[in-house]
Amino acid sequence: MHDLIIRNATVFDGAGSPGVSADIAIDGDRVSAVGEVQDAAAETVDASGLAAAPGFIDVHSHDDFQVLTEPDVTHNALQGITTVIVGNCGFGAAPSDAAEEQMKAIQQIDPSAEAWSGYAGYFEAVDRNPPSLNVAALVGHHTVRRAAMGGVEKRAPSPDELAAMRRMVAEGMEAGAVGLSTGLVYEPGRYSETAEVVALAEEAAARSGIYVSHMRDEADGLLNAVQETIGIGSSAGCGVEISHHKAVGRDNWGKVTRSLEMIEAAQASGMDVTADQYPYTARTTMLFALVQNGTFGSGSGGAMGRSSPDEVLLCSVPGSPELEGRTLQSFVEEWDLPGEDTAKRILSDHGNEVLVAAFGMDEGDVRMVMAHPSTMIGTDGLDRGSKPHPRAWGTYPRILGKYVREEGILSLADAIWRMSGFPAKKFSLKDRGEIRPGAFADIVLFDPETVIDRATFEDPRNGPDGMPHVIVNGQFIVRNGEHTHARAGRMLRRGEE
Ligand SMILES: [Zn+2]
Repeated sequence: MHDLIIRNATVFDGAGSPGVSADIAIDGDRVSAVGEVQDAAAETVDASGLAAAPGFIDVHSHDDFQVLTEPDVTHNALQGITTVIVGNCGFGAAPSDAAEEQMKAIQQIDPSAEAWSGYAGYFEAVDRNPPSLNVAALVGHHTVRRAAMGGVEKRAPSPDELAAMRRMVAEGMEAGAVGLSTGLVYEPGRYSETAEVVALAEEAAARSGIYVSHMRDEADGLLNAVQETIGIGSSAGCGVEISHHKAVGRDNWGKVTRSLEMIEAAQASGMDVTADQYPYTARTTMLFALVQNGTFGSGSGGAMGRSSPDEVLLCSVPGSPELEGRTLQSFVEEWDLPGEDTAKRILSDHGNEVLVAAFGMDEGDVRMVMAHPSTMIGTDGLDRGSKPHPRAWGTYPRILGKYVREEGILSLADAIWRMSGFPAKKFSLKDRGEIRPGAFADIVLFDPETVIDRATFEDPRNGPDGMPHVIVNGQFIVRNGEHTHARAGRMLRRGEE
């Protein structure tokens, strides 16, 4: 007698093999059998016409606090995500007071929450109050830099400060973080030199962690930034993950051809270099960071590339939701100001926490990066404000519907590998990202003929069509398209079961 049997699914193993028609038996939190299962079960799901894939692992999440404050993490659960890897772009969860300050623009901590001590304390907080899905974490560079240097300092750390940062990274890694992340366009990480990052990446490398980076430049200086990123991994002796691989700004379209070649060359030299991607031509970020990086200036455009004011949508304006969904261009016209001055006025009126979506990538580049074998999938989702970038709700079904079924950019088995087995391997998540006897029962069931995202820039907060069931550690967190509110997730520590 099994706890659960999923019958007649087309089962994808997550390792890239084609789907096979099979039943899946689940006992407790693990898969116990795959194939023709004769036994009875407490519950049986008929999955005829549905694909069964390992639950999706979102390697690029910013939901460090959401998993505690909104433990359903609905935008993730409905799109088949069963594990999020938080702490990206240098925004890490510990120490908690520095994290709260650092994260202000992108996520808010529960004001009643107790401070946690280090990453060990954050992990215990997740253990005590588990969300619907699993969580793994990166140590974030900004947060440890802010804590060690007493704020945003536009200088190199003193030897003592660097030693303090190294201790904080070591603490996180010892507690079970999967690596170190940076975001070298944001404050305060942008003030670090390469040597500082290498020193910290060594602490991750010493404990089998990887180096994950929102690079110093994704526009004119993209290729130099890729070189720096790979060089940091090479110097420190660890694997590298390039976050949200792209080329921003019309003048830079096509440069991903070269950045992909650089990844191939690093791999050929024996390095573990890979990347992640969200399937859209707009990014989302803080308006403050775009202004600071010269996006609307008269020059050639800085590290975040150029976007014209009609390509920028306000996603989240704390206290003024009526402005959300408007373009920057609409304010340019209303105030008769240049783009940069318009953006600065919005910041002075509404604060530096304003989030925007900014177009500026090429669809051809998106497809080329997606098709490359170095690319796995991540959302980079920020479910803030009334008009969040739709990637927070639609990334995975969009890949499966638009890019697999409609456009044939990836085969279904390959797409599933990039959403499950590939990230589990890269981020050392043991017994996750695959469907086989003994693996954890993190499973998503979807209809390959109908699955599609329904999150748009105009109306973003919609789950997908065609993805009825999501199972985490053997429990349904989504059943018939509805969240069950089950708190089935766990804190995952590097390499541990
Ligand atoms: Zn980023």
